[in-house]
This record gives sequence, C-alpha cells and structure tokens, in this order.
Amino acid sequence: MLTRVKAERMLIGGSLVESVGQQWDDSVNPATEEVIGRAPSATKADVDKAVTAAEAAWPAWAAMSVNERSEILMILAKKLEEHAEELLRVEVADTGNTITPMRGDVRMAVETLKYFAGLGYEIKGESVPATPQNLHFTIREPYGVVGKIVPFNHPIMFAVSRAVPALVAGNAVIVKPAETSPLSTLILAEIAQSVFPAGIFNIVTGKGATAGDAIVRHPKIKRLAFIGSVPTGLAIQRAAAETCVKNVTLELGGKNPMIVFPDVDVDEVAQAAVNGMNFSWQGQSCGSTSRLLLHEDIHDAVLERVARIVSSMRVGDPMDEKSQMGPINSAGQYAKVQKYVKVALDDGAKLVTGGKRPSGGQFKKGYWIEPTVFSGVKAEMRIAQEEVFGPLLSVIRWSKVEDAVAIANSTEFGLTAAIWTNDLNNALWTAKRIRSGYLWINGTSAHFLGTGFGGYGNSGVGREEGLEDLLSYTESKTIHLMIKPPKGLVARS
Ligand code: NAD
Repeated sequence: MLTRVKAERMLIGGSLVESVGQQWDDSVNPATEEVIGRAPSATKADVDKAVTAAEAAWPAWAAMSVNERSEILMILAKKLEEHAEELLRVEVADTGNTITPMRGDVRMAVETLKYFAGLGYEIKGESVPATPQNLHFTIREPYGVVGKIVPFNHPIMFAVSRAVPALVAGNAVIVKPAETSPLSTLILAEIAQSVFPAGIFNIVTGKGATAGDAIVRHPKIKRLAFIGSVPTGLAIQRAAAETCVKNVTLELGGKNPMIVFPDVDVDEVAQAAVNGMNFSWQGQSCGSTSRLLLHEDIHDAVLERVARIVSSMRVGDPMDEKSQMGPINSAGQYAKVQKYVKVALDDGAKLVTGGKRPSGGQFKKGYWIEPTVFSGVKAEMRIAQEEVFGPLLSVIRWSKVEDAVAIANSTEFGLTAAIWTNDLNNALWTAKRIRSGYLWINGTSAHFLGTGFGGYGNSGVGREEGLEDLLSYTESKTIHLMIKPPKGLVARS
C-alpha cells in the first residue's frame, strides 16, 4: 500500500520548484482510481526558465573532460540504486505495471548510465584525405540544450536512460514525463538535484499541449528526442518546424508481427507469444508483438496453448509479487482499449479469451480488463492495423511465407518483429524482407544495450540504446587546415 507521494516539485536550474502558475496535475493510481500525488503543471514560463538555466550551464559542462562527466553520472547511478525500492513502489502505484518485472526498470536505468558513461571516449571525429597536402578533420560538439519528452509506460527508466547519452555528449537536458505517471520523476528530481551542476539536468512536468509544446517550440532547443505515439510525433515534427530547423528523433508506436513457421516447438512458441505481449505492463509496450502470425499447420495447437496460458494469468494488485498483469494506465487509455475490443468484434474477429473487466470486488474500481486474445483476424482489420497499446493479441493464420511477409509489412509501422523457426535460411530470408528496425529470431521482447533500437516507417526516426544514440547528440564540425611549405626553408636539391 502506498501513501501519498510527497515529492511534488520539478528540478529547474538546480532548484526544486513549483510551477510559476501554481497549477497542478493530480496523479491517479490506476488500480484504485485514488489520487496518490500531484505534479506541477508547467507552462511556457516554466520551460523558459529551464531553458535559460540549461543554456547558461552547458558550456562549462561541455568543457569538462569525458571522465569528469562520467564520474558524475556514476554518482547518479549509485544514488538510484540506493533509492531503487522507493522508486519501484511509486512507479508501480503510478503506472499500474506489475512489481516483479518492474524491478528491471531501475536496473536498466543504472545499466544504461554505466554503459554510456563508459562510451564517452567514442565521441570522436575523423580525418579525411580530401587533398593530400592539407589536413581535413571533423570534431564532434554538443548541441547545447536538449529536450526529451517521454511516455507513461516506463517513466523512470526513460527519464534516466534516454537523457544519459545527451549528458555524456556534453549537453544540458530538459526531461518531460507523461502527465499520467510523473511521480517517480519527481523523486528523481530530488535525487538528481545534488548530483549535477545547476541547470544541467532539468525535469519539467505537465501536459503535452502546454509544457511539451513549449519544449518543442523553444528556439534554443535545437535537438529534440521524443518517445510516444505516432500522432504526437507528427504534431511535434510540425510544431518544431514552425519555430526553426531542429534535429528531431522519434521513437513511436508499433503493431509488431511475430511470424511462426511450422517447424517450431508449439509449447515454447506459445509461451514466447505471451511473453512478447508484455502483459506484465498490460501490453503497453511499443515493442509488444501484438500480431501473432501462425502457419496453418500449427495454428490450432499454438492458439489453444496461448489461450490456456492467457486465460489462467493472474490479474491483480500490481504491488502483489504474484500478479502477472495490472490495470491499464489511465482512464483515457482504458477507454481506448475497450473501444478496440468492440472494433475487433464488429470487424468479425473471434474473441478467444478475455475482453471484459475481471469479476471480483477488487476490480470494482480501477482500469481493469482481462488479457485478451482474438483469432480469425484478417490483415486489413483495424485490430491488425492500428496500435492499441493494450493487452489485446490478434492471431492471424498464414500458409505461404510471401503472404506472411506481406501481412507483416502491411501496416504504417515497422518497430519490432519476431520470427520463430529452426531453419536458419527461412529465418534470414524472412528477416531481410521484414520492414522493422529491431528483429528477434527465436526471441521476443528483450532489449540488449548497445544494439540500436528504433523504427522503420511511421515507427520513428533514429536509433536509441547504442553508439548512434550517443553520437546523435553531437553536431559534426569539419575543419580544413591548409598546409604550406615553411617560409624561408627551401628543400635542398
Ligand atoms: P503520447 O504520444 O500521448 O505522449 C508521450 C509524451 O508526449 C507525453 O509526455 C505527453 O505529455 C507528450 N505530449 C503529448 N502531446 C504533446 C505535444 N503536442 N507536444 C509535445 N509533447 C506532447 O504517448 P503515450 O500515450 O504517453 O505513450 C504511448 C505511446 O508511446 C505508444 O504509441 C507507444 O508505442 C509509444 N512508445 C514508443 C517507444 C519506442 O521506443 N518506440 C517506447 C515506449 C512507448
């Protein structure tokens, strides 16, 4: 049981502050619908303050050695480990994600800090033999102030791990979490206050349309990194372009296919399909393999096993170590998931299991829905085309591999994909034809640090979690040194 979260202030210019307008957004525990805390509802005035502080602070930060910056980041890593349990409990109450797997989120934040802190020396330029008599080389420099806007599903992990590469590269950062789950980042604000020089790491909370939009449009923020939905990503590209030229990277949604060949172990594949849905955070994961494409020979066997596993999943209090699925994050997201159950049924999909509020007194309040599987889904149905971002799995039957590939590639997205087969040739033939940025062969769900994550198509622009991520927070400057023979010194004949 979590009592009300006491952290209520943003981190701007090294100070813990309320919003200039003294406005707040309540944050609700989605399991109970109780208000468990509040975050400042920042406006343009707060963002302006953060940018001014960041703009003043970054040159000294950039002038530090890589090692000095890394040491500061390692202090943050240590403090996060000390506060891991507190962060975990607040995160679970604020997001609804279940506690056992959520332990991995703070761990991932710390691991990412360590990874990028060690990678700082890879921010290097090149020498180019454009003309043999001169010296042409590049150096990499930070942008200055970077804006990072992150979604509701993994707030602390995203707020830390997605800010680190920008910080290592010598930038000051302004992070904005989602308004439905901001509480862990307010604790992060308290932790980070004593770690960074004032103005280097700023946390601004508030609504997307106000605080988010002010970050996007601020002329001093030339580098923007966004994680969220496709419609918001498109709005951000438009709004950013109205101010000035900006480098905008986008990590957006997915409708990710998992293609299963007939040569697999059906028990193993059924469990993998369930794991790939990330039900432990209610399917609210960009990488969830929410379209399960089963070859006709194993379709019934896998579907029957998936249905059995899903229907026996333990939905309940996300604070309970035994719960396997919690509530949907917010009232808005809950309504969206319910809408898509209806859409799928109206379009002719067959409900195999789930689709309704679980029964029992503890589910009277809160945004609860059972984990849900639809079969008989056709590639063109809305449930197979549109991102739900919820615990709805669609099963599609295929017989020819060309059809499976065409179905996999038939959406606007291209984030992740999974291929299951024991035939290496089939796996690679298929992998090369799938239009996705992150692809597992005989795997699902897991991320591996150092391997770039990002999407094709409308799933985004840019790759995070690797060297490309770090370098994307630098601008390249080319320098030409024109070399002449030394004056007065004539080469002897
Ligand atoms: P969202 O797009 O509604 O909001 C994301 C963030 O953008 C929030 O902080 C929000 O306040 C802010 N925002 C909203 N409108 C804005 C505006 N006009 N200007 C500036 N900021 C604005 O997304 P969400 O519902 O929080 O998260 C779910 C989405 O995120 C899904 O589509 C999911 O696939 C995606 N996601 C992608 C990745 C990835 O790495 N590709 C990871 C996690 C989530």
